[in-house]
Amino acid sequence: MHYYSTLNKNNKVGFREAVIEGLPGDNGLFMPSEISKLPSEFIQNLPDLPLQEIGFQVLNPFVNKEIPETTLRNIINKTLSFDFPLVEIDNNTFALELYHGPSYAFKDVGAKFLAQCLDYFYRDADEKCTILVATSGDTGGAVAAAFSETENIEVIILYPSGKVSDLQEKQLTTYEKNVTALEIAGDFDDCQRLVKSAFLDEELRKKIQISSANSINIARFLPQAIYYFVPFQIFGEEQSIAFSVPSGNYGNLTAGLIAQKMGLPISSFIASANRNDAVPRYLFSGNYEPKPTIPTISNAMDVGAPSNFQRMLDLYDKGHDKMKKAIKGYSFTDEQTLQIMQNVYKEFDYLLDPHGAVAYGGLKEYLKTANKNEIGVLLETAHPCKFMETVKKVSKEDIYPDSASQFLNKEKKSIKMTADYNDFRSLLLKKSN
Ligand SMILES: *Cc1c(COP(=O)(O)O)cnc(C)c1O
Repeated sequence: MHYYSTLNKNNKVGFREAVIEGLPGDNGLFMPSEISKLPSEFIQNLPDLPLQEIGFQVLNPFVNKEIPETTLRNIINKTLSFDFPLVEIDNNTFALELYHGPSYAFKDVGAKFLAQCLDYFYRDADEKCTILVATSGDTGGAVAAAFSETENIEVIILYPSGKVSDLQEKQLTTYEKNVTALEIAGDFDDCQRLVKSAFLDEELRKKIQISSANSINIARFLPQAIYYFVPFQIFGEEQSIAFSVPSGNYGNLTAGLIAQKMGLPISSFIASANRNDAVPRYLFSGNYEPKPTIPTISNAMDVGAPSNFQRMLDLYDKGHDKMKKAIKGYSFTDEQTLQIMQNVYKEFDYLLDPHGAVAYGGLKEYLKTANKNEIGVLLETAHPCKFMETVKKVSKEDIYPDSASQFLNKEKKSIKMTADYNDFRSLLLKKSN
């Protein structure tokens, strides 16, 4: 078992190296060379197993003994430290709520697992590792929360001043110790440029050890396979279950394909997209034509050219017919998305966020053609309180969870900085001394 690059199968590394490097040097993505089937007794016994045990059995083969078993079990217990409730919307439709973690979005699981793995790999190193992250809002919160629990990793988060929501800013700027927030006088592109410049700065990299917490890192991508086991833990393996995944970069959906390949009897996948619909169009036509990103109200899915499409092609040996059989694609405009949120709230008293609403739309289209015994699960990827501007148009309820209000009351601590690389560079050097 090793990891290869999707662009060159001879470019092989182990788990540790794949996690630390994040991306292969050739611009491909790392893929596991083996996706072994879980024992059939394990699948039969899912209703009797705690989720932490399921998580361990799913991830253990991918870690390939590069982390000792007791440590890995600890890491997984920390990663799965909150609930994933399955909530009935109507009689054949369920929402799997993945947003009960510290940043109220599903990226917490991947971020926590990556943070814990890196913390383990750097425990005996002479120097600390510094993670650099540019964020337009959401990813930064998950990364800050995840790394605030580590000891051997420093995190520096760059965010555009005045361009993130109040809650998002507090989620970046209220951690102590090893998490530093830089408030950049510029936009998200400036933040990304500063991070990129640091990675290209060979002189700097001789002096400090830097790394990224990129969303395509295998340690952020693989743990997402665990979500798909939750409904089977409740209904058992006999139940026919289709999953609708609100997709942007397609990491979450691809992790589901991996769960299926490991033997989880998922009946179908629905790739639900907003107007950034390169994958649904590919499924329909067989032509992959990425387009420039279009801004929408489900903005965590505003990705014109999804990176994980490479991994999807790899899993199906580039076969369009095979992929089309396994995955159905649908896309929705902002008007349709808002309409869905309003209808579901009125009819079933369930408040979807805009991403979950897109997934609901895809699921309903699919279920029109499905057999009667099949149930549909949509992945609800964010708490509606993260998208108040849209949610306000649907409900006047006060939906802020207590823990979010606590964030809002904390004191912001950020370092203000220009978008000039020299300033950023000096700060990095100063911090490492
Ligand atoms: C990141 C994100 C998505 C898209 O997930 P991918 O794995 O990139 O397809 C969907 N919804 C929310 C709320 C997100 O934060």
